Amino acid sequence: MSDKYLEVANSSLGKKLFSAVGLPDPVPLTREEFTEPHKLNGQVLLGSSDGAAFANSITSFIGAAGVEVCSHSLENTGHLLFDASGIVNAQQSEQLYQFFNRHLRSLAYSGRVIVIGHKPSSLDDVEHAAVQRGLLGFVKSVAKEIGRKGATANLVLVDKDGDLALEGPIRFLLSAGSAFMNAQVLTVAQPVDNTDADWTKPLLGKSIVVTGAARGIGLAISQTLARDGASVIGIDVPQSGDDLKAAMTAIGGLSLALDITDSDAPEKLRDFCASHGPKLHAIVHNAGITRDKMLSKMSAHQWDLLVQINLGAVQRINKAFLDTDMLDNGGKIIGVASISGIAGNVGQTNYGFSKAGIIGVVEALADTCAARGITINGVAPGFIETQMTAAIPFITRQMGRRLSSLGQGGLPIDVAEVIGFFVSPQAAGINGNMVRVCGQSLLGA
Ligand code: NAD
Repeated sequence: MSDKYLEVANSSLGKKLFSAVGLPDPVPLTREEFTEPHKLNGQVLLGSSDGAAFANSITSFIGAAGVEVCSHSLENTGHLLFDASGIVNAQQSEQLYQFFNRHLRSLAYSGRVIVIGHKPSSLDDVEHAAVQRGLLGFVKSVAKEIGRKGATANLVLVDKDGDLALEGPIRFLLSAGSAFMNAQVLTVAQPVDNTDADWTKPLLGKSIVVTGAARGIGLAISQTLARDGASVIGIDVPQSGDDLKAAMTAIGGLSLALDITDSDAPEKLRDFCASHGPKLHAIVHNAGITRDKMLSKMSAHQWDLLVQINLGAVQRINKAFLDTDMLDNGGKIIGVASISGIAGNVGQTNYGFSKAGIIGVVEALADTCAARGITINGVAPGFIETQMTAAIPFITRQMGRRLSSLGQGGLPIDVAEVIGFFVSPQAAGINGNMVRVCGQSLLGA
């Protein structure tokens, strides 16, 4: 559904009116061109602390990707990237301050701030580890200062040997695909599999299951993955069979009408995939429902139905695939949680439980998956414009949109782009990550 407030705020009359009365005037975000995705635009001013570990390799790979890298100042406007990994004590944090104090003003609209550090627990020196932890508070605060420009700030933490897989996450964060991912951490570790793939069609020839694919975020995920070359196997309930079929036909995918809570659904899905090839590249567990009710008024059916769809089915499908080697050596599993699973929400005890459970699935399976060359990651969307959020009462809906640093709701494509990155071979160093796609919503932040 459209956000009328955003449209009016960006009309010429609206701009004057909103600024006169002091209303927030969110900036429309720049998103990927559907026909030419993953293209990196603009200049990057790259700074680094003394003893920074990653700046040299970042300069060479983003330069090779066609980005103009500047080292003193942005000639026009662009993105700011700072390798803070060499900051070993509180005193040296002044280098971080100096860089951003001098250059933050030249950040472009829809620009990116990216800070690189070490994963604190990977460091032996406690003082070094403590100041690296400080980077998160810095990035979250910068994100709040630049959100009115439609700009974002994110932190990349490099774990042991994560430098081998740093290019994918840096390129993703610099791209328009990361528009609504704000104030988040991506932790990059040693890649679990080969990271080689085409940068414009990273999913070429790969089969990917998307549940809940007939509409909303699942449809956007399917379209985005197909854009990136994937053959999508879309799943949705039989009642949505016609919509699903039409959506999958349009993107050259396959459809399977299936209620994922049916007792034989995991095996049916696995057999369907196996009949189309011995390997499956990824499963995106997107299907989900809400059944909001205050806990004391919630029926057992409202609890059970939701928990089975949002969590139980996800675990049973994972088990069915992990009992085989279909995902081994390069496969990806994606959980779709929610910021309600992080912050909790009135009337959503069932939903909050199920979505926090998805975070648990990602955490619990990460090591097992890594040992088999598989990654498992998740997204926790905030307010996204879909039929699910259109059903929210008007005032709450407006608040949901405005209560983020970017001052607007996200679009299904924003969630889809993050998932598209997570399932790309170039993200083989990202495992066990859960990122919010919420524009830095104040809920649970
Ligand atoms: P939606 O209701 O528009 O779409 C969900 C899809 O899942 C539907 O097509 C539905 O038929 C399908 N589905 C439901 N139960 C199923 C079952 N048993 N078997 C197979 N398919 C089933 O929802 P959406 O807004 O696109 O949300 C997609 C996911 O994102 C959900 O997991 C949701 O919890 C999560 N999410 C959404 C938002 C948001 O703001 N829209 C925020 C946070 C998280």
